[in-house]
Amino acid sequence: MNKPNLKTDRTLTDINGRRLRYLRLSLTERCNLRCGYCYGSVDTPCNEPAGLTNPQIMRLVRAFAGLGFDKVRFTGGEVLLHGGIAELIEQTSATGGIAVVGITTNGLLLDKQLPRLIGAGLNRLNVSLDTLDSKRFQHITGVNGFERVFDAIQNAVKSRAFPRVKINTVIMRGVNDDEIGHLADWGLSNPIDLRFIEFMPTHRSGWGHARYVSEAEMKKTIGVPLEPVHDRAANRGPAITYRRGDSPGRISFISAVSRSFCGQCNRLRVTSQGQLVGCLFGDQRVDLRELVERNAPAKEIERVIVSAVRSPGFRREGLSTSVTSLKPRMRGLGG
Ligand code: SAM
Repeated sequence: MNKPNLKTDRTLTDINGRRLRYLRLSLTERCNLRCGYCYGSVDTPCNEPAGLTNPQIMRLVRAFAGLGFDKVRFTGGEVLLHGGIAELIEQTSATGGIAVVGITTNGLLLDKQLPRLIGAGLNRLNVSLDTLDSKRFQHITGVNGFERVFDAIQNAVKSRAFPRVKINTVIMRGVNDDEIGHLADWGLSNPIDLRFIEFMPTHRSGWGHARYVSEAEMKKTIGVPLEPVHDRAANRGPAITYRRGDSPGRISFISAVSRSFCGQCNRLRVTSQGQLVGCLFGDQRVDLRELVERNAPAKEIERVIVSAVRSPGFRREGLSTSVTSLKPRMRGLGG
């Protein structure tokens, strides 16, 4: 079936002239891993109030599409714990104007669901993996699941359903910094994009200068000369991407602490509780839940989004995370 042609000339820009077109929607705070730097600790319970229903989420997706958004990523928490994720992907990819539908997952439940998700229209996939060592994986995440995640990544690559499977790897001193070289080799020698993410000072992350490893230090450790990749797709987001010679793989750096990329930011976020967020490190929230719960018309939802985006301070400009004391809860916001 063809998508309804909802194409509009509408584009949403914020007060600093940044065009917004990418929605990151957190579906749940629940997670089946307990990475200390993200969730808190191994025994942190999750007492999440009920999130939005799928029809409510789709009302939001359609409103964003009406504002010219063409990319949606579902995240969390762990998206694959959300009931009806395949239906959400299917309906999102059938929404006029939406060209890109992605998920960020820890990969634990991916293998079983992958064919269904691809069939539903999933065309971008990010899997988080901080180590290539099975014992260390268990130490970091609290779960013995390395092989499951690794196999899922390999099968996702083989499926050829994604331009490039992206691997999200947070580097922390004393946890996995001794694997930087090995991870870079793996990233460069496989048709993937391994993204080294600087450890950020988020809620209950245990962040400290002693555990933080900068992009500059990671590059020094990798040692080999890297060539920047100049294609537009690789450089649209906060990552800076490199290859080595004609390596099949790429590695990227997402360096929110050492390098501000606010100027290129094209995204808005919605939390699992339906709060609109203009910036990962922003302190303002606008409630969209009330609107979808009372079945407000798309135009009204659009108006609320536009007015939020145009209000001063909703989207920050030029602030690096190292100078803010705000500590976002990654699992509700979806990293
Ligand atoms: N469950 C999914 C997953 O594991 O990918 C999505 C949620 S997780 C919050 C999204 C990403 O945020 C993961 O790649 C995770 O490593 C990253 N993340 C969490 N806390 C972080 C921190 N303090 N600094 C940098 N990245 C972080």
